[in-house]
Amino acid sequence: MAIRIMPAVVITAALLVAGCGQGAQTAAKGPAQVDGVRIVNADSEPGMWMSVGRTYSEQRFSPLKQINDTNAGQLGLTWSFDLDTARGQEATPLVVDGVMYFSTAWSMVKALDAKTGRAIWQYDPKVPREYGVKVCCDVVNRGVAVWNGKVYVGTLDGRLIALDASNGQPVWSVQTTDTTKPYAITGAPRVAKGKVFIGNGGAEFGVRGYISAYDAESGDMVWRFYTVPGATGQPDNAASDKMLAEKAASTWGDGGLVLGGGGTVWDAIVYDPEFDLLYFGTGNASPWTQGYRGKIGDNLFLASIVAVKPDTGEYVWHYQEVPGDEWDFTSVQPIILADLPINGETRKVLLHAPKNGFFYVLDRETGELISADPFAPVTWASSVDKETGRPVEHPEARYSQTGKPWRGTPGPQGAHNWNPMAFSPDTGLVYIPVNVLTSTYVQAATFGERAMGFNTGLDRGANATSGLAAVQAAMDGASSHLLAWDPVNRKEAWRVEHPGPGNGGVLATAGNLVLQGTFGGNFVIYRADTGEKLWSTPVQTSVIAAPMSYEIDGEQYVAVLVGTGGAFGLTQGAPSLKSGPMRNISRMLAFKLGGTATLVEPAPVARAIDPPPLTATAAVVADGSRLYTENCGVCHGAAAISVGIVPDLRSSPYLSDDDYFDIVLNGTLKERGMVSFAPMINRAQAAAIRSYVISQAHDTKTVRSAGP
Ligand code: CA
Repeated sequence: MAIRIMPAVVITAALLVAGCGQGAQTAAKGPAQVDGVRIVNADSEPGMWMSVGRTYSEQRFSPLKQINDTNAGQLGLTWSFDLDTARGQEATPLVVDGVMYFSTAWSMVKALDAKTGRAIWQYDPKVPREYGVKVCCDVVNRGVAVWNGKVYVGTLDGRLIALDASNGQPVWSVQTTDTTKPYAITGAPRVAKGKVFIGNGGAEFGVRGYISAYDAESGDMVWRFYTVPGATGQPDNAASDKMLAEKAASTWGDGGLVLGGGGTVWDAIVYDPEFDLLYFGTGNASPWTQGYRGKIGDNLFLASIVAVKPDTGEYVWHYQEVPGDEWDFTSVQPIILADLPINGETRKVLLHAPKNGFFYVLDRETGELISADPFAPVTWASSVDKETGRPVEHPEARYSQTGKPWRGTPGPQGAHNWNPMAFSPDTGLVYIPVNVLTSTYVQAATFGERAMGFNTGLDRGANATSGLAAVQAAMDGASSHLLAWDPVNRKEAWRVEHPGPGNGGVLATAGNLVLQGTFGGNFVIYRADTGEKLWSTPVQTSVIAAPMSYEIDGEQYVAVLVGTGGAFGLTQGAPSLKSGPMRNISRMLAFKLGGTATLVEPAPVARAIDPPPLTATAAVVADGSRLYTENCGVCHGAAAISVGIVPDLRSSPYLSDDDYFDIVLNGTLKERGMVSFAPMINRAQAAAIRSYVISQAHDTKTVRSAGP
């Protein structure tokens, strides 16, 4: 089954030299002397990892093979670095000329000696903690970019910052978003041709998506491309004006957008030096339900892959994976570029496994659909029509049109989310962290702007897990696996089952290895060709980020950022409890053959569940359950059960204290991220939420006291 495919980038190196000024010989000038030539020629420096997916093709494949399928069992920890944050860690580190650069939760950046783990510098952009309520899925950051001696990070509060790679001091900083709106940046910037590309998120809250290009040296904006039309219908004086007017405007309602429109470019951005194109994935609709977006149409460019010219942002092609999305089926999951042998010829393709459960192979020069096949259980559509490129939907999935609830798979977490997949040109397989989750979609009876929090146009109570039995049911209905997918023969090659969802991103290597961490707290190595498990080690916390590999002084290392959090540490807490509740112990870990370092587990900080008496009526508790789901559950966990990164309210010392109202309504803990909810609830409603939490705490006590 092994297929050998030549990496796409090798043949283009010569093409780029003329256009890209500096060469690899500048490496001696100082740290992070990375340019387009070096990244295009990344395979000539296999010990480096110079951009988030290692190369411009973002295959997340390391050519290193000192660690391989004959000796992986000898891998051991060689150093670890404790982080100064205890939230979800999603970044893939870069390693350039012996220095490791990475971002952490709260958009902080570290530079470490990649051989020893010693800190060289650390940078904190001091993101105001109240920005935590402007993100759906934790205060995460997925990585940095390096270019010409600078390190670039996007911050949760919407800044793009260039740091001096030698000392971590800011060189320039620009605000890329309107801070009065609920925008946030969690994705990694990409750099090509002297420009930094960055998007943003916020489609659960009511924003309009776009991607921007900034000059890497000055921070001046070069172009911006909006992914959906604006509310006024007026041009934006942006690169997208022509295409929004010609292609997109007629696919939306005439009355203007009720709520931003969405289509946020919150993760995948890939530069293709062969065709000089920039591809980006766009997010879900805002609001989710089409019933509150005016006319029924395709709503371009939601849930699409869009190709533009990197110098100008000029539109080239698009392929919409989910016309008229109303399921939160974003298309921002990581994009991989590859050359594949299809029907007897080498096709230059873009590989994509978005939330919607279909695996897409597109011609990356033209956007033509080559194939689309379900890689996971899918109940919203039966297939994708090869001629039209459109999904063949099951009519009952259109809950906004039927007026009936629809329970389907995948749910809003997707069959595959942001956790990076990897492609091995040696095996020809794509390795995908797959989740199998079911969700109920019900259009809310009424809809309007909200002062804060999710505003999806759905009745969020439909998925409320209000009791322990419901939490158990949510766990029972969830599963997850690491899937090896053959994109040429369009079928599964092998899979490894995991206990619960939310597992980490993937690395493939020339050592015939696939590496992945689990939500349950193990870091595991499999044979890339068969999926046979070769090695595993406990890491004391969830791994949701993707590993990478580098080489220094003739030794190969594998590094992975660990620390539970992200969506499955918050909103989707119930299903991920299947893997066991995990503490957040945020660290960078580095492994090598014969490594002998050990991890010391910090002392547990468990608090007793000792609630005050429940005095409220059942009706008040029921009201509190609904209000909790609407306002609190996104962070504090379904059914008031926290997975661990945000306080579990059942054991809160404030439940029996008047401080409770000061915290909830006056924002006395806003420096820790707990802002005032006075815009959303009054004192009686806050009291009902407290009664619900107290009732959940008593339920837990009952279950615990009934245990062995
Ligand atoms: Ca979303």
